[in-house]
Amino acid sequence: MSAYDTRIEGHEMIVEGTMAFHFEKPPGFSFKPGQAMDVVLVDPPATDPQSARHAFSIVSAPFEEHLSITTRMRDSAFKRALKSLAIGAPIRIEGPFGSLTLHNNRARPAVFIAGGIGITPFMSILRQAAQDGLPQRLVLIYSNRRPEDAAFLAELQVLEQRNRHFRLVATMTQMEQSTRPWAGEVGKIDETLLKRVISELPAPICYLAGPPAMVEDMHRVLNLAGVDDDDIRTEEFYGY
Ligand SMILES: Cc1cc2nc3c(=O)[nH]c(=O)nc-3n(C[C@H](O)[C@H](O)[C@H](O)COP(=O)(O)OP(=O)(O)OC[C@H]3O[C@@H](n4cnc5c(N)ncnc54)[C@H](O)[C@@H]3O)c2cc1C
Repeated sequence: MSAYDTRIEGHEMIVEGTMAFHFEKPPGFSFKPGQAMDVVLVDPPATDPQSARHAFSIVSAPFEEHLSITTRMRDSAFKRALKSLAIGAPIRIEGPFGSLTLHNNRARPAVFIAGGIGITPFMSILRQAAQDGLPQRLVLIYSNRRPEDAAFLAELQVLEQRNRHFRLVATMTQMEQSTRPWAGEVGKIDETLLKRVISELPAPICYLAGPPAMVEDMHRVLNLAGVDDDDIRTEEFYGY
């Protein structure tokens, strides 16, 4: 794994409690959509030197000029330090790594199942696919508590219009706590929803990202819906 010194170019809140951070893309850094990298603080807080690094999916696509990550802002020493960095501050990245990347057989559709901020690896894949005009069927089943928490929802709706091979199925699981209108699916992703989506697709390969309990449950439900373990891909991402 290679290390690169770079700089923070900006950050912003994108939905409630969720921030995007943008870095200069170092010369020579290349990655595949869906991969991750370690973000390493050059000057970690003296009180907690153990919290100097954190792994994030790269949410930007390779064709984009900048490198970006997105995360729920839980109260950790690392995230507090990252948020407090000034624009232009030095930062180190290490990577890329990970194999949650799109399979090569374009005849087989991909079904991405994302819980909350687990959307990040799939955003990179979907942005690059739209840019390249990829003629491969892609379906995203995206679960959030409320529209207020759903990162990139508007962009995904635009991507669905731009890319006729891409279909978005978004569901909200806590609409009773929302103040926004929502006309899409409600309730957790379950066997009925998965079967409805998957039955329309020839031999799909399914990708999972989200809270660990969700990834585990979705794996089981995919098996119940008739998807073989060989056709289910995920990566462990703990400590958020
Ligand atoms: C491959 C991968 C990449 C990741 N990349 C990142 C990253 O770049 N940045 C980052 O911050 N985190 C990342 N994560 C971490 C992960 O997504 C978090 O653990 C998770 O998102 C928790 O926070 P949340 O607030 O988004 O989820 P929540 O809001 O708690 O849940 C999201 C949705 O999942 C539903 N859900 C929860 N549990 C279940 C269940 N058992 N069955 C069905 N539905 C369920 C909820 O109802 C809700 O709709 C990644 C995880 C994986 C596996």
